[in-house]
Amino acid sequence: MTHYQLVVIGAGAGGLVVAIGASKAGKKVLLIEKGHYGGDCTNFGCIPSKTLIASAEKAHALKEGKEYGIEFETPQFKAVKALERVRAMIAHVRSHEDPPALDKLGVKTLTGLASFENPHELNVEVTDGKFEKISADKIVIAAGSHAFIPPIEGIKDAPYLTNETIFDLKEIPKQLAVLGAGPIGCELAQAFSRLGSEVIIIESLRGVMPNEDPDVDTVMAKRFQDEGIKLYTRCDANLISYKDGKFLICITENGEHHDIEAEALLVSTGRRPNVADLKLDNARVEHSDKGIVVDAYGRTNQSHIFAVGDIVGAPFFTHLAENHGRAVLTSLILPGPLMKKIDKQALPRVTFTDPEVASVGLSEKQAKEMYGENKLAIYKVPFEDLDRAMTTGRTEGYVKVITKKWSSKIVGATIIAPRAGEMLPELSLAMLYNIPLRKLARLIHPYPTFNAAIRKAADMWLTQTILPKLRGKKS
Ligand SMILES: Cc1cc2nc3c(=O)[nH]c(=O)nc-3n(C[C@H](O)[C@H](O)[C@H](O)COP(=O)(O)OP(=O)(O)OC[C@H]3O[C@@H](n4cnc5c(N)ncnc54)[C@H](O)[C@@H]3O)c2cc1C
Repeated sequence: MTHYQLVVIGAGAGGLVVAIGASKAGKKVLLIEKGHYGGDCTNFGCIPSKTLIASAEKAHALKEGKEYGIEFETPQFKAVKALERVRAMIAHVRSHEDPPALDKLGVKTLTGLASFENPHELNVEVTDGKFEKISADKIVIAAGSHAFIPPIEGIKDAPYLTNETIFDLKEIPKQLAVLGAGPIGCELAQAFSRLGSEVIIIESLRGVMPNEDPDVDTVMAKRFQDEGIKLYTRCDANLISYKDGKFLICITENGEHHDIEAEALLVSTGRRPNVADLKLDNARVEHSDKGIVVDAYGRTNQSHIFAVGDIVGAPFFTHLAENHGRAVLTSLILPGPLMKKIDKQALPRVTFTDPEVASVGLSEKQAKEMYGENKLAIYKVPFEDLDRAMTTGRTEGYVKVITKKWSSKIVGATIIAPRAGEMLPELSLAMLYNIPLRKLARLIHPYPTFNAAIRKAADMWLTQTILPKLRGKKS
């Protein structure tokens, strides 16, 4: 049995922050990883999807050149090398997070599947049937999540793809059916469509990105349909089969049955924390299939065991896993009264479709439920009249800011724009430091930018809320 001051389970976004930081602070650290170092983000998530999206953007720019006055013969392109580029990018990023790189940072690694023997001891299956025993003063669980596979008849026997297998494809599939129109489904549907697949999205809820502002569906559904993506929303898939290289997906739409054929099927219907293999009951760590239960410090009910990232449940984001990791790291280095609570600031969320969909804080529906409709003001600036949007031919998006009515304190915002993710921090920062929206009107926004829409939204506090009130008083 080897003993460590700190053992971290999982070398993804959350685990790496803790392990590298603790090692720099002089702790004797072991990082255990069962699969690919770098976790989901590097190997099966953010990095491959954003790399593929970059290729898809280039392909799309070629296709729409004529709309921008560029005359040329319609390009015939093969995008198979885009998949090779994805794999090269994964390898490149992983080379900064693999055991030799970690060793240089003083982090000892052990490759194998970790499970609890008791609250202080772990068994690590290093090869089939061979175990190493590890004990630790403190343990941080950063074991991530996996794709949820819905219980649809026939799905178990079908060779469907998930985010763990789709980036291994050797060809762009002729047709790709995508089950689930959440962020992962939408990003990959649009990317594969732009790279040459005929794409069909099937979503059981009300529309595209159903957890976002309802106007997101209006904009994105139109965009997807304009690009040739077929959308079936409020549709349940009830039967899936696979024969002679083709999937047959039977769906019901308003009581009517349709059969959809496709060469490939991506299942992107949500994520579930990886609790099953950890044998958490042996450590008496409170958990459910929704994740490990933690307190404000990221501590489980066993005070020496912490959990960070996707393993504690939704929402699932790299920046959230890192944020958990940073707080827990501080607590491990400076325990006692200096322990750090997990930062609860409004979480920014970005879906990297084109246009991107970025949001922070409450949605309009949540805000109305929390504060009541008449206590709120909603400022929406569509891009139809925004100079930067017009000149770039991207007028479909908007900035929407939800505030308390009189104070203009920001409670939530949604932006749909080509680089909405880069625009959002202005609003996140205002929320973090309690800067009311009206004060952003003072900030000189460079012209012509998409960000100027935020200033226009700030101006609306005066024109939409205050001036009508003053006029009302005078009359
Ligand atoms: C397609 C896709 C795109 C995404 N895009 C984005 C994005 O653009 N932006 C964003 O913020 N987020 C994105 N995410 C989410 C992001 O990838 C995750 O939120 C993030 O990786 C979570 O980090 P983590 O450290 O909690 O878990 P992970 O990164 O999943 O790391 C967990 C690690 O633990 C290991 N492990 C699990 N169990 C054990 C065990 N018992 N023993 C040893 N090792 C174990 C796993 O092998 C894994 O490597 C995306 C996800 C997907 C699937």
